[in-house]
Parts: sequence; C-alpha cells; structure tokens
Amino acid sequence: MQHRRREVGLVEYEAVIGLEVHAELCTASKVFCGCATTFGAPPNNQVCPVCLGLPGALPALNRRALEYAIAAGLALNCQIASTCQFDRKQYYYPDLPKAYQITQYHQPLCTGGCLEIMTKQGLKRVGITRIHLEEEAGKTVHAGSTGITGAQYALIDYNRCGIPLIEIVSGPDLRFPEEAKLFLEKLRSILCYLGVSDGKMEEGSLRCDANVSVRPVGEQAMGKRAEIKNLNSFRAVQAALAYEIRRQMELAASGTPLAMEEARAWDEQSGMTVYMRPKEQPHEYRYYPDPDLMPVVISSAWVEEIGRTIPELPDAKYDRYTRQWGLASHDAWLIAAEQKLAAYFEAVVESFSGNPKTVSHWVLGEFSRLLNLEKTAIDAVKIRPRDFAVLLERLAAGTVSGNTAKTVLETMFYTGQDPDTIIREQGLAQISDVQQLQELVAAVLAAHPGPVADYRAGKAKAFDYLVGQVMKATRGRANPEVVRQILIAELVPAEKPAKQ
Ligand code: ADP
Ligand code: MG
Ligand code: ZN
Repeated sequence: MQHRRREVGLVEYEAVIGLEVHAELCTASKVFCGCATTFGAPPNNQVCPVCLGLPGALPALNRRALEYAIAAGLALNCQIASTCQFDRKQYYYPDLPKAYQITQYHQPLCTGGCLEIMTKQGLKRVGITRIHLEEEAGKTVHAGSTGITGAQYALIDYNRCGIPLIEIVSGPDLRFPEEAKLFLEKLRSILCYLGVSDGKMEEGSLRCDANVSVRPVGEQAMGKRAEIKNLNSFRAVQAALAYEIRRQMELAASGTPLAMEEARAWDEQSGMTVYMRPKEQPHEYRYYPDPDLMPVVISSAWVEEIGRTIPELPDAKYDRYTRQWGLASHDAWLIAAEQKLAAYFEAVVESFSGNPKTVSHWVLGEFSRLLNLEKTAIDAVKIRPRDFAVLLERLAAGTVSGNTAKTVLETMFYTGQDPDTIIREQGLAQISDVQQLQELVAAVLAAHPGPVADYRAGKAKAFDYLVGQVMKATRGRANPEVVRQILIAELVPAEKPAKQ
C-alpha cells in the first residue's frame, strides 16, 4: 500500500529532529582542575597534568560547575538527580589525551524537562530528555587546506580540554529547521540569563549536533537517523538540516531510505552534509563509573538554594510585557530574549510616566538602530535610562517633535548629555506659542500668494505645502498641529469652509 502510494508520488514525508546542544559553562576554572578557561589564550598555555591526562594526576570536581548545571536543569523544568555521578566514555582521538572523556551516562544530572518555543503554528513544547555534565575535549585545528575534508594536517590545542560542558538533549520533537533554530535561540537566551554560559556560538561555547530522520506523515515509528556533528551557528543548523532533510526525503522517495544510522559533517563551502562514519552504539564506548570521582550528594536544600539565584527568565518577561504592558508579541520577544536589553528597557519604563509601548517603540527603533550602527554593547551605552525617559516625557508634552526627539536621542547616544541640556543649548524646543506662530504664518502666507490662491481654488495639496513652509522657516521646530489650526483659521473663506 505504502509502496503503491510512493510510486504514484502520493507519500508525503515529514522530518523528525532532535538536538544535542553543548554549552560550555563560564566558570573561571576547569571542571576537574584549576586551569583557567579564558578564551583565546595562546595554544597549550592553560594546561596541567590533570587536563593533559598525565599518569597519576587526579581530578577534583569544581563545585561551581555542578551548581551551574543544576541551575540550567531547573530553568528547563527538569528533575535533578539526588547524586552526581561520573562515567568514563572511552574512545581514542588526538584531542582527548586520557583516551576517555569524563561524562555522565548511567545517571544524567537532569531529566524530564521541557522548553517552549513560539512557532508559526503557535506555542510548542519541546521535551528536554536529559542534561549531563562533562568535560570538553581539546580543539583540533585542521590546516593546510580549506574545509575539513581537504585538510593536510591538524594542530591540537589542549586549552579547551577540561572546560566544563553541559550537554542538553532534546526530545525528537522538532519538525522543521526553523523550529530547531527557535529552540536553540530560546535555549541560548535562557543560559545567558542564568549566567552559566556566554552563549557565543562564534567562539564555540555553544554548538550542537542535529539528529534528523524522515518518515511518511502519519507514521509513528521514527526512521533511521543521521547525526550532523558540531554545528556552530544558527545559520549552519538551519542550512544543514534543510539540506539533510531534502537528501533523506529524496532517498526515501526513490525507495532507498537510510540503511544505517550515520554521523555526518556539515561542509560550509559546498553547502552539503558529508558522510563521516557509521553512528557509534553506546556499548562501543564501554562506559563505566569513574573510580577517581566519588558520587556527590545533591540535597534538596542545595537545589532550592540554587533555584533562588535564578532570575526572572525570558518567558516570564515576555508574559509581563505583553499582558501588563501591552507590547506586541514580536516586540516583547525581541526585548525579553536579551537580558541586558530587557533590563535597560525596564529601567526606562520605570522612569517614564507614559505608556511602555512608547518606550519599546523607541528602544527597538531609533535606539537599536544606533546600537547596530555603532556596534555598541548595551553595557557601553552612554544614555542613562532616566535621561531616555525624560526625552520621552518631553516628546509627550510637545516640547519636542518626533523628528527632533530622534536628533536629541542621537546626540545623547554620542555624548551622554541629558536631553534638556541638548534641547536648550541647540535651541530645539518646539514652538507652540500661538502668537509667535500666527506671525510666522502670516509672513508665509504673504510670501506665497500662489499656493494660497491654489488652496482657495480647491487644491488641498497647497495646504501641506504651506505647512511645510512654516516648518522650514522654524527649522522643524514649529508645533505642526498648532500651525495647521492657525492656517485653517487664516485660509478658510467665510463662504467656503474647508474640511476639518
Ligand atoms: P545518542 O545520539 O548519543 O545515541 P540519543 O539516542 O539519546 O543519543 O539521541 C540523541 C538525540 O537524537 C536526541 O535529541 C533524540 O531526540 C534524537 N533522536 C533519536 N532518534 C532519532 C530519530 N530516529 N530521528 C531523529 N532524531 C532522533
Ligand atoms: Mg548523539
Ligand atoms: Zn588543568
């Protein structure tokens, strides 16, 4: 039946995706030794007998690393194990000097959590199967040619060896490359909020393996999967998955689905996934409990204590912004996703007597434009949130026009001056004084008899032209609403009232 449907091209396939995300924890020292974890140090400068795997060296667990991993588990709604135990995963690779990796196999630290993402089809809950704590391997630098497939030799930097890492394993719940990206973005945002990872994909501190299979729509069983290793940008995750899904669907449609599970690599240059090796089975690693590391008891009091250090997370902020403050969903997420931006935004809202939506409009608009233009980090912004609020107050009170407010904000951005000083020193205050504007209008009307006649003859456009002339004469400072009212009063001939 299925065969026949496929033959006539009626089988529709769907993708099944599960991610294994690796996040380096930003502890000051490594997970089982005292070496520093600073990124970008000269190669092989942050190493010792423990992380180089020299005979006789013994590991000791970094308490902070364990606390960070527990915090991640709590934020992802997991159960936390009552003991922390480590296993050895044996395999040989040049970047792994001990020939085993200390990881958790028999009892992961965290299990059974979930993470919600906002997809085009609505809110989606993605399972977090488990999170475990382990050590990084060293970094292999392929050299001598472009792309890993053409490399002639490799260099190894052991600085990364022993940096604490958590592996976060999702359920096979994602269906589209776009969903995988949303999941990663959300996860990254949460880990950054917790302060347990810096989330820098470009430095490799966050990366993932993407598992993907395809199956006919409606089928429950999962097909054989490929695991695309070591993706290190949101773009790579999406592109690699899109390519691999198409490849597997074509194979399935032509009657030759994957016969074996396989590990593949993403080749950025060619835009293709490349076969690496058949997928290892767990028994091949000969996992066994690490005899050098005693189990650590995790009391519920300790877990609670860690729980109390967790700040308000992006989901809670998003809810507050949309429900209490009326922000549009998209805007709320853009702000909530980035902790520092959110804190800044909230500080402005706190000082501002008007609508928070006005603040989000300015923060995501002109302010973000300046941040991007100058590649300024939010920590380095010179505008004090209180001053930002004062500017918005001046705008609301009509002291400055919208356009002038942009100019003032720009000056604030570059100089850190307060808005009132800028408005005063540069003479930017809006002119709302009726008498002063009446004189200006009278002068403009006298100077432009043509447009005045046009307007009176019924050409509505001439009105805008005259408003423009008044604005020009005041370098944009005239209050346009007052100008319009005066112009209407001046121009309307008694027998032929204009609209408004
Ligand atoms: P490992 O890859 O280390 O053997 P698991 O078997 O637990 O570990 O799977 C890792 C990831 O692969 C998980 O995110 C899981 O959801 C996903 N996964 C497992 N089987 C499939 C499949 N058939 N298709 C797609 N994803 C899968
Ligand atoms: Mg795997
Ligand atoms: Zn060390």
